Amino acid sequence: MAQNEKRTYLDYNASAPLRQEALEVMLDTFKEPGNASSIHAYGRCSRNAIETAREQVANLLSARASDVIFTSGATEANNMVLHSFKDSIIWVSAIEHPSILNSTFINEIIPVTENGVVDLEAFSNMLETLPEPSLISTMLVNNETGAIQPVEKMARLAKKKYPNLHFHSDGVQAAGRIEVNFPSLQVDFFSLSAHKIGGPQGVGALVMLPGSHIKPLFIGGGQEKRLRAGTENVAGIAGFGKSCELVSNEISAFQELAKLRDYMEKKLLAIAPEIIIFCHNIDRVSNTSAISLPSVPAQTQIMALDLDGVAVSSGSACSSGKTEQSDVAKAMNISQEIMQGAFRISMGYGTSKNDIDHFLESWEKMYLRTSKKSISA
Ligand code: PMP
Repeated sequence: MAQNEKRTYLDYNASAPLRQEALEVMLDTFKEPGNASSIHAYGRCSRNAIETAREQVANLLSARASDVIFTSGATEANNMVLHSFKDSIIWVSAIEHPSILNSTFINEIIPVTENGVVDLEAFSNMLETLPEPSLISTMLVNNETGAIQPVEKMARLAKKKYPNLHFHSDGVQAAGRIEVNFPSLQVDFFSLSAHKIGGPQGVGALVMLPGSHIKPLFIGGGQEKRLRAGTENVAGIAGFGKSCELVSNEISAFQELAKLRDYMEKKLLAIAPEIIIFCHNIDRVSNTSAISLPSVPAQTQIMALDLDGVAVSSGSACSSGKTEQSDVAKAMNISQEIMQGAFRISMGYGTSKNDIDHFLESWEKMYLRTSKKSISA
């Protein structure tokens, strides 16, 4: 990538840039040879790095360090939870990440309203009429729309009806972006991913209440309380811990991104009043904007922006490459026509008004060019 071009990164929900402080901690950790299971000084040094990170991850959620298990990412954490309940009844929401929704262990799907938020009435009805589930999984913030889900309400409702039930929430897009208090969320399991908050890719965690039924996915050594075999990714874990420490001090600053998002959406509406802004009037995270310009395929818009050095994504980056409609769009009943022009802008700690103006300038150019074409066609 040429260094001197102006580049604007607006795809934080896919992966946030690695924070310098996290990189530094990782570089220091990489220099140490020790296996955290060894009892000599090198091993103890690696062990210390892991335990420091465990505290930092726990602090972000007001959880206890002893409740945190490190994994290779949220995909693994999500799989661990569903796999542990595979022989019993599992319900998940219709807008989960593919690492949940593609599981073959699911028995029931909890619907969402057209706003992309879990339909609490339908959910209460399911609790009254369907056989008792053992596990319910609902993400706290949706990766495609940014919509905040009523997880605490759901967990309270479900546990009132079925006190033995376990509740899991994929918190990947929520952690570090809104206040999350693991004990008061009423969930048993919470998944995290380092690379959405400025840590490295390939590291995550499962936070869980003690004695919560989790069975290991891998056969091997006794690492991570015998729940996650394999020599730990010490440097990655240390970088993850550092990123958690940084974002836990920035949650109120993160809310300021809503001003940039609102400015951007207003400008987009002024350029093209026909655009659709998903989840516009509902509770959503400050950094995410899901928009459709139905007349222009998302790929065309994204490529035009990319040529100008602006990075956004279509729907979920995890499903990119797939040409079929996203599960979230289907669950929200969004037509194929609207969805084909949908793209996602997601900002982060590094985003400035200049970045948004760069995006707006490029998008307007694309819009004027493509609308001229469709008038003359
Ligand atoms: N859940 C959600 C909501 C996500 O956005 C992602 C990342 N796209 C994941 C899970 C998977 O995380 P990881 O990349 O750490 O496997």
